[in-house]
Amino acid sequence: MARQPLVVNFPTEPLKTSASFNNPPVTDIAPRLEQLRARIRECEGRHGRPPGSVRLLPVSKGQPAAGIAEARRLGVTGFGESYLKEALDKMSQAADCQWHFIGPLQSNKTRGIAENFHWVQSVARSRIARRLNDQRPAGLPPLNVCVQVNLSGEESKSGVALADAELLCREVNRLPRLRLRGLMAIPARVEQEDAQRLVFRKLAAEYHRLRRVFPEMDTLSMGMSHDFEAAIAEGATMIRLGTALFGARKG
Ligand SMILES: *Cc1c(COP(=O)(O)O)cnc(C)c1O
Repeated sequence: MARQPLVVNFPTEPLKTSASFNNPPVTDIAPRLEQLRARIRECEGRHGRPPGSVRLLPVSKGQPAAGIAEARRLGVTGFGESYLKEALDKMSQAADCQWHFIGPLQSNKTRGIAENFHWVQSVARSRIARRLNDQRPAGLPPLNVCVQVNLSGEESKSGVALADAELLCREVNRLPRLRLRGLMAIPARVEQEDAQRLVFRKLAAEYHRLRRVFPEMDTLSMGMSHDFEAAIAEGATMIRLGTALFGARKG
């Protein structure tokens, strides 16, 4: 079947307020969300995935608080963020939401992350996993963790090599304050759907193999605004969408 273009309606009129930087008006979020949900559902059906088997995680990094407020009004209950400080500001206004840390992890940020997030999808080193475990407050449930895999072998991208994923999963799995949920990846950007699918297929194969070792794993987090259909086709259970939902980011 021919690939349908992703319809993203950026405003053609210049925005009136500087406070809203590049973002389309928040009133665009409702139709975009509806359209994305329909496309996810259609894509699930086309690839033999059960309806509702793919979770949409809106990525709110670089987006104004108004966008988050509008998404919440539309029933969104969880968000992905990449920078601790920015996320903490937003969390204070949406404390009842589920927050996923999806950005690069530095040692000096692990405490703030362990204390405030529900999920961390970007664990790529055992030392960081141990810090998150040690710093997760006793009063909170275990921190949900995905091991980030570097599929493209790019030095600039973080993540463990596919061959090392099992070892890190084993490490996470034995830490009592962490709960191993699955794998996450950000492949190098390519435009062709066939090429996108090939890379996602590799991660999916390893995910299914690891699920026999760690049966509690239930999350294959792959697919962003430009490649989420390929990710769904290859078995993603969570797709992380920023610009397709909220428009261009600040900065
Ligand atoms: C920013 C980001 C996204 C969202 O990217 P879009 O292309 O805007 O959909 C998804 N995942 C991670 C890890 C990100 O950093």
